Amino acid sequence: MGPPGAGKGTQASRLAGRMGVPAVSTGDIFRANVASGTDLGRAAQGYMDAGEYVPDELTNAMVRDRLAQPDAADGFLLDGYPRTTAQVGELDDMLAAAGHALDVVVELVVDVEELVARLSQRSSEQGRSDDSEQVVRRRMQVYAEQTAPLVEVYSARGLLRRVDGMGEVDEVTDRLLAAVGTLHA
Ligand code: AMP
Repeated sequence: MGPPGAGKGTQASRLAGRMGVPAVSTGDIFRANVASGTDLGRAAQGYMDAGEYVPDELTNAMVRDRLAQPDAADGFLLDGYPRTTAQVGELDDMLAAAGHALDVVVELVVDVEELVARLSQRSSEQGRSDDSEQVVRRRMQVYAEQTAPLVEVYSARGLLRRVDGMGEVDEVTDRLLAAVGTLHA
């Protein structure tokens, strides 16, 4: 977990690689669907470009399909899911049905000024359509309203680990590896 610009995508793929599990990034899957013009991509694009969340039903169905793939049978790292209370409930059901459970939930913590700086750099480097200043502002707001409360939910379950996301990419990866400890080692 973490607000836009916290480094979730970058760190998720590094961490997953080190742990030998697939990174399941809902944002990446949506962007791939938009790029290839699928029905899901067409349904999601307007929400993404406005900085809003894609509706839970679409998102949950997509994650359910992805987690049913054979490469996720022995574990996976979710990046950007769940983001709403309804998604938490849906994920609980998916995991229970498969006889799995979450091992740990990581919150990447980064200063607001640093988030803004990273997103403006990404905007010029990658040209992501939702990194414009106005849309970023909305994404931050949506995160604060809908996703930040999930920190408490997972903290109450004893699953949450907060990790400092400031500094060099390698340093943050090391902190994350330390935070997830010996999981799947
Ligand atoms: P991200 O790459 O994680 O920042 O996601 C980019 C965009 O994809 C978000 O701003 C949402 O529009 C959409 N998205 C990604 N994950 C979710 C999710 N779990 N629920 C709803 N929308 C999502």
